[in-house]
Amino acid sequence: MLRSKYISEVKAGEKVKLAGHVYEIRDLGKLVFVILRDVSGLIQLVANKKDCGDEVFKKVKNLTKEDFVVVEGEAVANEKAPYRKVEVLIKKLEVIAESDSPQPIDVSGKIESTLDKRLDWRFIDMKNPDVLAIFIFQSKLVGFMEEFLRRNRFVRIFTSRITNAATEGGADYFPIMYFNKEAFLAQSPQLYKESVLVSGIDRVYDVGMVYRAEPHHTTRHLCEYVSFDVEMVSESMRDVLEIQEGVLRYAFEKLNKDEWVKEMLEKRNIQLPFPKKIPEVSFEEANEILKGAGAEVEEHDLTPEGERKLCEYFTKEHDSEFVLVHSFPFAKKPFYLMRYKDRPEITHSFDLLYRGLEITSGGQREHRYEERVKNIRDKGMAVEQFDHLRFFKYGMPPHGGFGLGIERLTAQMLKLKNVREASLTPRDPDRLVP
Ligand code: ATP
Ligand code: MG
Repeated sequence: MLRSKYISEVKAGEKVKLAGHVYEIRDLGKLVFVILRDVSGLIQLVANKKDCGDEVFKKVKNLTKEDFVVVEGEAVANEKAPYRKVEVLIKKLEVIAESDSPQPIDVSGKIESTLDKRLDWRFIDMKNPDVLAIFIFQSKLVGFMEEFLRRNRFVRIFTSRITNAATEGGADYFPIMYFNKEAFLAQSPQLYKESVLVSGIDRVYDVGMVYRAEPHHTTRHLCEYVSFDVEMVSESMRDVLEIQEGVLRYAFEKLNKDEWVKEMLEKRNIQLPFPKKIPEVSFEEANEILKGAGAEVEEHDLTPEGERKLCEYFTKEHDSEFVLVHSFPFAKKPFYLMRYKDRPEITHSFDLLYRGLEITSGGQREHRYEERVKNIRDKGMAVEQFDHLRFFKYGMPPHGGFGLGIERLTAQMLKLKNVREASLTPRDPDRLVP
């Protein structure tokens, strides 16, 4: 093994073998201080010519920032050590991989680079522990969300990302060449996660990339994002809402109890409270609130300003950073949603807003074949392009679900200004590398 332990586990009084990158070097002539970084944290290393011998001392003197090294030494207590009051006296050091110098961007955070430049150098930027932390956090977040679902009998499925039709309608799809045919990158796993329910499996989820040809440059849209999708047999939308709130509550509670997360949030001065119950309003009620707050409203959908103002209102009036808006007009929602029996212009749908931004969309689906076909026709779309429909003729149970954008949720939780910061390799109209 390269290392005997991770930096965060080092205790005074033991011999250790550490592996990591050289983060900083301070050369005082006869004494050299090196800050070593691994995924778990930072630690000070000390090279003293007397103690480590000429050969090792020379190697330490010749280090370049971001060299990848393996160090052996003795951990000792020192009140003045910059990290965790412990430092390592170097006995042996091996440079395993040298780094070019200078670095393309400063990863200590002392010299700020533009987000664009940082994303150009994404994996170098992640040498900055605060940037890396976003992705460790994200991994924990998704892990806890999955944990809740599995405990509730959900089965993970893996649906195709190459499809014969644009799932969500609209224009924001990527056509691709599939041998000699035109195909599309999936905008969501929607039609698959629904169709599979005809089999008898009654609770599924899917986590994977989906594709949206979003031509506009906003801080909340990516052309490729991780969609956390849930679909279940449900008597009504209420069942779906219960699971959605359950998933989020569980993940928030687990994250708030995680020692690593606690420390990270404290450093960023962020709290993650979860309301006793997420407040709910209909789209119509939401618009009344917005009019009262002097915001402009649209007939069929919430505007970005509306989402922000609504969240401000519920944070202030109901002490909840979440608000659920339900019963959206059919006009702006996808065809697969069930419509109210007595008001066919309204759907059994919802959007969950968090800290001013939509993070999920969901609803009760139209599981009845004839009605589903009617919805497609009412949208002015061609029924023939929807292959999945044939599965709806063989005993499709009533069902519903939701889709959640992982980068958006991460960004909102960590108060990142741009959703790109929460995407490992963001794709937008101008960015295809790295
Ligand atoms: P918006 O109106 O904000 O553009 P949408 O209503 O088109 O989003 P949905 O089709 O409802 O998005 O997708 C479900 C969820 O997926 C959204 O609530 C959001 O969290 C996420 N999402 C949708 N589009 C994007 C995108 N382009 N980039 C990142 N996340 C997205
Ligand atoms: Mg939506």
